[in-house]
Amino acid sequence: MFTQRVTKITSWGRLGYQQLRSIFCTSFNLQTCNIDPPPGLFEPMNVPHKLLTGPGPSNSPPRVLAASALPLLGHMHPEFLKIMDDIKLGMQYAFQTKNNLTLAISGTGHAGMEAALVNIVEPGDVLLVGSNGIWGQRLASLAERIGADVRVLKKPAGEVFTTQEVSQSIQEHKPCVFFITQGESSSGIHQPLEGFGDVCKKHDCLLFVDSVASLGGVPMFADDWGIDVIYSGSQKVLGCPPGTAPISFSQKACDKLASRKTKVPSYYFDMNELGNYWGADDQPRRYHHTGPISSFYTLREGLAMLAEESLENCWTRHSKCALQLHNQLENMGFELFVKDKAVRLPTVTTVKVPDGVNWKDIADFIMKNYKIEISGGLGDTTGKVWRIGLMGYNCTEENVSRIIEALNNALSTLSK
Ligand code: PMP
Repeated sequence: MFTQRVTKITSWGRLGYQQLRSIFCTSFNLQTCNIDPPPGLFEPMNVPHKLLTGPGPSNSPPRVLAASALPLLGHMHPEFLKIMDDIKLGMQYAFQTKNNLTLAISGTGHAGMEAALVNIVEPGDVLLVGSNGIWGQRLASLAERIGADVRVLKKPAGEVFTTQEVSQSIQEHKPCVFFITQGESSSGIHQPLEGFGDVCKKHDCLLFVDSVASLGGVPMFADDWGIDVIYSGSQKVLGCPPGTAPISFSQKACDKLASRKTKVPSYYFDMNELGNYWGADDQPRRYHHTGPISSFYTLREGLAMLAEESLENCWTRHSKCALQLHNQLENMGFELFVKDKAVRLPTVTTVKVPDGVNWKDIADFIMKNYKIEISGGLGDTTGKVWRIGLMGYNCTEENVSRIIEALNNALSTLSK
């Protein structure tokens, strides 16, 4: 209030900010601040419209954005708890699970990863990580930090794991958890998951799945596929702002949690506490943390839109648009990074950068002239590919045409 008034007065050019502040502070006997308010905060925010067709976040539909502007409720108010209950049911639908311990972590996909790990894995536990891109590496790094004995089953980026490879590796390492990524957004592969649950069950190992870049865009049957812990993120196919991470634990995972020898090392991610806040036990719901009210509104609306469209239709829309994009890119002479068509991820397409072309020049041209985001590679694919995301609200034939037109123009202009 004071600073607003001061800005007005200074803009009239009568007195300087420092002088005014000094007069104000002296007259009210206040101590003067040493650090001035940053001038940038007196400017309006600069938020241009961009088509976010990188690996995420994707654009939110107006309905989801409108939800974030709804009035706040208290985090324990009955209306808000009902919204959380709706979210839980929506996530059970999205994951295709009846798991009671299904909730949204207040944080991005990484928070889902951490929550999965800290609840199940104890220091010294052997954890086997399927690593064929950045996300296996990232999970291994998080697991090392909590003292897990991490073993890595490695494959080159762009290739998928077979159940035989995983079975062999599980027999060799005898882990209590095997981790795999369904939608490897750094390489653009869609890892088939059928059969992995059976392999894990046979060897008394829990199956962890990262579905951050894939949930809603490709089929997921968490219960039928024997997945024990699965997490995702809000900002991809669900089309919500980043900040919430759906997660679900099977009964076997809950049993492992209940039989821990040590306390869950994170209070914030402790599923015993979070489960209560989300109504997953039979005790009265207690305050655990202040649920991010507006973020949960958006997640509720994103899940409502998914339910209205239906999972089957959403999967079909993603595979159709991705195929259209892949065909048009190949017609232009581009090579896709993932050779096997059957395991190309519809939500994130990786395109090989042709020799002699700088990926960043093209991406910058497209951003500057079209306000369209196309990203470069990540981890092992850095400098080798562009990553084009078609997720949720952005996954339309019209957007495929816009991307192709922008790419065509960038290539012809920059090769002149
Ligand atoms: N896993 C996968 C497969 C991802 O694509 C991402 C985000 N790109 C993450 C995990 C991490 O999610 P976040 O950036 O929301 O923390």
